[in-house]
Amino acid sequence: MSRPDPRTAQRPPDSLFTLVTDQWTQPYWDAAAQGKLVAAKCENCVTFRMPPTPFCPQCRSQQIDWIELPGTATLYSHTVVERAILLELADCIPYVPAVVEPDGAPGIRIITNIVESSIEDIVSGAKLSVLFDPVEGGAIPRFRIVKDAK
Ligand SMILES: [Zn+2]
Repeated sequence: MSRPDPRTAQRPPDSLFTLVTDQWTQPYWDAAAQGKLVAAKCENCVTFRMPPTPFCPQCRSQQIDWIELPGTATLYSHTVVERAILLELADCIPYVPAVVEPDGAPGIRIITNIVESSIEDIVSGAKLSVLFDPVEGGAIPRFRIVKDAK
C-alpha cells in the first residue's frame, strides 16, 4: 500500500490565462462570468457541441441554443503535473489538467483544471462540481472532487 497523498491540486496562475472570445464562444464566457455552466446545443438536431463551432457537425445548422447545465460532471481523464515546464508554474505544483463530462449535455467534454481536491481523490470516474475562478474579463469554470456525503 502506498501512503495517502496529502497534496492538493493547485490552480495555474492567472498570468498564463488570456481570455479570447468570438461570437461563437462569447455566450459560454458570459455565462461563466455569472457563475453558470452552459453548453451549446444545436437548435435543429439537438446535438450538443463544445467547443461551439459555427456549424453543427451533424446537420450543418448554425443555430445554437445555450443550455444551462447543473454544474456537476464526471472526470473522464486527467494528468497530475509534477514538474514546472514554465517558471510561472513553479509555485503551482501539482496542478491537474483534466477532461470532464458535464451532466446534462451528453456527448461533450470540457477541458479544465481540477482544483481544491486531494491528489489521492482524483481518479477517472470521480464525481465533480463546478466552481468559477474570477479572472480579468470574466471567470474560468474549474472543477473540484465531490466526496460522498456519508
Ligand atoms: Zn445539428
